[in-house]
Amino acid sequence: MTSTVGRVVAALERRYPPELAADWDAIGLVCGDPAASVSRVLFAVDPVMSVVDEAMDLRADMIVTHHPLFLRGVHSVAPITPKGRVIHALIGHGIALYCAHTNADHARPGVSDALAAACGLAKTTAIDPPGADVGTGRIGDLDEAMSLGELGTRLVIELPGTEHGIRIAGNLEQPVRTVAVCGGAGDSLLELVGDTADVYVTGDLRHHRAQDFLMATGKALIDVPHWAAEWLWLPDAASTLEQDLGADTVATSVSTIDTSPWTTHVGRSQ
Ligand SMILES: [Zn+2]
Repeated sequence: MTSTVGRVVAALERRYPPELAADWDAIGLVCGDPAASVSRVLFAVDPVMSVVDEAMDLRADMIVTHHPLFLRGVHSVAPITPKGRVIHALIGHGIALYCAHTNADHARPGVSDALAAACGLAKTTAIDPPGADVGTGRIGDLDEAMSLGELGTRLVIELPGTEHGIRIAGNLEQPVRTVAVCGGAGDSLLELVGDTADVYVTGDLRHHRAQDFLMATGKALIDVPHWAAEWLWLPDAASTLEQDLGADTVATSVSTIDTSPWTTHVGRSQ
């Protein structure tokens, strides 16, 4: 038995409604005939050539990525550009591409719920809007307080390994109980978590924003790799699609390729 691109899209959009996406985002079906049959779907963070190659190796008919392929205006998809080569490879091999970005960030369960689960948070609300069920980021309490260092170690175990690694700002011995998380780049939420969370776990934290937060709040930060934090959502999304359409109808795979831009970590080791 097989499904179709259109049925996979409909199932995804029931879980990750397009209306939850940010205005600036570019989600949805990028290429692929809705009537084309689908027997295997590959889930990945980035729509890059190595992931298209992986889909071909797996004989996947469709790729679902978290990041969009095109976010700004496009005037050409000729294969003389990196993204044009991706589009040509996809269409040439009959592989559909669908992107679930901020709609998957905001939905529940979504991207930040997977990061919250990795931290050990059972019950959470959104960071923005504060207290809401659906929205950006998640905040909740650990069953019992642990040290900042122990939470860091837990994330080392739970996240896929990367060269980028995990960085911690704060005293490793300080107890943490209320944890805020945001998959991907979350420094826009710093002002919202300083009063309530003992530690904020997110990616792509910049020097000045991080330093201002630490000076103003005395709280802690854990900077996790953007790719790894969002990768955590992929197994959840894949198993949910199998549940929704039936595992004997559509099989899923989760990409094992680290598509983080950071490929080597040099310098001091502990
Ligand atoms: Zn991201």
